[in-house]
Amino acid sequence: MELGCLWEDQHEGLTCEQYAQWKIDNDPENQTAGLARYLEDNGIDCPSCKMKFSLAKGGCMHFKCPQCGFEFCSGCSQPFHQKGVCRKYRSCQGQGLHCHHPRNCLYYLRDEDFDDLQKLLKTNKIHINTTAPDQEAGQSCPVMEQKEDPEGKRDEACGREVEEGFAGLCKIHYKEYLVSLINKRNVDPVAMMSVDAIKRLIEREEKKVPEKKANETDAKYRKRLEQFIREIEPLNRQE
Ligand SMILES: [Zn+2]
Ligand SMILES: [Zn+2]
Ligand SMILES: [Zn+2]
Ligand SMILES: [Zn+2]
Ligand SMILES: [Zn+2]
Ligand SMILES: [Zn+2]
Repeated sequence: MELGCLWEDQHEGLTCEQYAQWKIDNDPENQTAGLARYLEDNGIDCPSCKMKFSLAKGGCMHFKCPQCGFEFCSGCSQPFHQKGVCRKYRSCQGQGLHCHHPRNCLYYLRDEDFDDLQKLLKTNKIHINTTAPDQEAGQSCPVMEQKEDPEGKRDEACGREVEEGFAGLCKIHYKEYLVSLINKRNVDPVAMMSVDAIKRLIEREEKKVPEKKANETDAKYRKRLEQFIREIEPLNRQE
């Protein structure tokens, strides 16, 4: 035991360095700052000029780079297309400003339930931080985000109410944290999707949905659709 290192029960079986790390990892202040900082570090990178913004991605996911003016999705970095420019699908011609998000973009995954996202992460053996720091009444989410009002855009702390069990974040930013883990590890969310959801993905690609064969079980059919979408639209997200 080093001089100046106060003995606590948790020190038992740990070296002083390990214990110091344990203190850091388990300090409520650090945990809150930790996840908030994590979201900001995984912030928004402009795919055009490479400028980095230490901001959460959520809210309006249509981000216009203040440096170069490029318009892209803060979740997947895909460009926004002005009316009439995009030819990816037949339906693009009739659309105004739009973006094509891959199925693992926060744009889609933020509509999934917490349970499903957590289950997907657990199935892939990815550790999730759920520890809630000691919460004081009225504590607000510290994640920095871009806010827009009639006076313009500014970067400000989220300020939404912190939810119990969400490691010091609000619901929206805790979900963003879960999705960032999914994206970081390149987990394909198709694994948790229902038959109907996968059918919608296939239709979005303007491809014909394979029909269910006679004698094919529901599970086998679902698996076949999953295979099909993985082939026609592989996830190759760059980190
Ligand atoms: Zn010690
Ligand atoms: Zn830029
Ligand atoms: Zn917008
Ligand atoms: Zn996107
Ligand atoms: Zn398009
Ligand atoms: Zn928040």
